[in-house]
Amino acid sequence: MMNKVMVITGGSRGIGAATAHLAAERGYAVCVNYRHHSEAAQSVVDSIRSVGGKAIAIAADVAIEADVIKLFETVDDQLGKVTALVNNAGILEQQMRVEMMDAARLQRVFATNVIGSFLCAREAIKRMSTKHGGTGGAIVNVSSAAARLGSPGEYVDYAASKGAIDTMTIGLAREVADEGIRVNAVRPGFIYTDIHASGGEPNRVERVKESVPMRRGGQAIEVAQAILWLLSDEASYTTGSLIDIAGGK
Ligand code: NAP
Repeated sequence: MMNKVMVITGGSRGIGAATAHLAAERGYAVCVNYRHHSEAAQSVVDSIRSVGGKAIAIAADVAIEADVIKLFETVDDQLGKVTALVNNAGILEQQMRVEMMDAARLQRVFATNVIGSFLCAREAIKRMSTKHGGTGGAIVNVSSAAARLGSPGEYVDYAASKGAIDTMTIGLAREVADEGIRVNAVRPGFIYTDIHASGGEPNRVERVKESVPMRRGGQAIEVAQAILWLLSDEASYTTGSLIDIAGGK
């Protein structure tokens, strides 16, 4: 069987970490990318290795082109050619209305969430596409229900960046569909992770969960399971799809 090699951006915490664990269980060699917190990334790697899996941690800011190039070159050397990319790294900032947002904030949010996803997709496609001598692969972009809901009063910039990810998923899926590459997205709703603290409200899921038809927040593993399905051969005819994982929201 072909060697399965996964790059997960932002794989050190939250949805990315859950995806890294599940991927390792399913036989992927996993690159856990992170930006700042090396201890968190190392602990994911250690726990995968402790049960016999293969994983490495690589620091790279996905918003920086040179970092992304280096990330994929390191994976080439240490794990082999990437077959699965999860564009999961994403940020949001302090909750505020649009009229309060400055350009620097908008640059940061779009640089990580949108440009980072494009750069990583580019490096993956160069290695996966049959047009470039590759043997195919799959990409999953981690969008958000915010792309549909708009996040008024909280972070419309973040929501708009996820709207861009949805459109990128559709366009890229069609662009590489006959080159052995499938591209899909998941759109999580309210998931228990640290990201809400960056918005200034660590307990946000508890506040908003009653607005969810299922009346609860989601767990990172529930997103990871959909990501792993989309990457697997069970999803072999699925491309350009956006899957909502939001308890009916
Ligand atoms: P999280 O717990 O805040 O974790 C974020 C991860 O991304 C960390 O590993 C972080 O690494 C990494 N990261 C941040 N900026 C990066 C950069 N520029 N380059 C490389 N890595 C970077 O986030 P999460 O809640 O799991 O979210 C993961 C994805 O799901 C995001 O795209 C988010 O928008 C999306 N999402 C989340 C929810 C939710 O409710 N949680 C809902 C919908 C969508 P460091 O720790 O080293 O900084």
